[in-house]
Amino acid sequence: MIRLVVFDIDGTLIRTGGAGVAAFTRTGEEAFGIRNGTGHMKFAGRTDTSLVREFFTGHGIEASPGHFARFFAHYLPVLEDLLGRHEGAVCAGVTAFIDGLRALPVPPRIGLLTGNIRRGAEIKLRHYGLWDAFAMGAFGDDNECRNELAAVALERGRGLLGPALRSEEMLVVGDTPHDVACGRAVGAKVLAVSTGGATHEELAGTQPDWLVTDLTRISATEFAR
Ligand SMILES: [Mg+2]
Repeated sequence: MIRLVVFDIDGTLIRTGGAGVAAFTRTGEEAFGIRNGTGHMKFAGRTDTSLVREFFTGHGIEASPGHFARFFAHYLPVLEDLLGRHEGAVCAGVTAFIDGLRALPVPPRIGLLTGNIRRGAEIKLRHYGLWDAFAMGAFGDDNECRNELAAVALERGRGLLGPALRSEEMLVVGDTPHDVACGRAVGAKVLAVSTGGATHEELAGTQPDWLVTDLTRISATEFAR
């Protein structure tokens, strides 16, 4: 039934201990001269590109391609630096859940559906030794709108698995109502985990297909075909 599993990153696979937000804030200061410029912003479940646009708009900076490029060129090495200074972790059950998916008789392909830009996703997941687990991904620099990213993930999944891949054969795993909404936007199944940016009750209100407090609470065999 499930042929493709795509994971959100922050709050779902890993918690960076604040390194991601701190990297945004430091970039705003060092590359654009805005001190503490992200205090009003809500990061969970958002795409990096939409966050940078909000930062620019909020501080009267033109949201030009050159400014986006400058932001991310500065952000990536800062992120790498801060990941080593903040105490983060792989979320509970992630490694066993992925191993369990791979051990299924007909294992699904495993990918990413994240608001992180691709290089940011790679830096974060390499830091936690997870990057090589993923065969494909849809990233925050593919589309600024998270709901559109689900369509990108499905299209790339079809590139791997063939054009017959149906949307309900894709499982989106995420930690915020934004993840649930983006899975729903393409008709995918959704597994919500309350290890990150939303409470269990908030996620329950979005009616995901599965809802667990962390990935130790569900077996990959649930998705066996
Ligand atoms: Mg998340």
